[in-house]
Amino acid sequence: MDCIFCKIVQGELPSKKVYEDDHILAFHDINPIAPVHVLVIPKKHISSLMEIQPEDKELIGHLHLGLQKVAELTGVNQDGFRVVTNIGKHGQQTVFHIHYHVIGGRQLQWTM
Ligand code: C5P
Repeated sequence: MDCIFCKIVQGELPSKKVYEDDHILAFHDINPIAPVHVLVIPKKHISSLMEIQPEDKELIGHLHLGLQKVAELTGVNQDGFRVVTNIGKHGQQTVFHIHYHVIGGRQLQWTM
């Protein structure tokens, strides 16, 4: 499968890792929009939130605990942060391996 994030998981492409365990990987976004901009992904290929299956419930719960860990590791848990997952064309999803953006380190605005 020609998936850039699967290649990062396999170590075929480099990434700046923030956290990794058996099921998830967190790495710095190559094009950060804030002082902290980390992507958290499951190692399993799931193309978007809309493709999550009932059997993925435990994995997705685990990934949410990973989001907490990343917030603590990067320090954004102190003042708050945002978690975003983009879906499809209107969501401007560009990589079709589900990923959660952890964005923080400055005051965020809510504009679309
Ligand atoms: O949500 P969306 O699909 O638009 O986000 C993809 C993100 O993946 C972008 O923020 C982009 O900078 C990031 N990216 C990355 N490393 C790559 C390819 C894309 O961090 N090799």
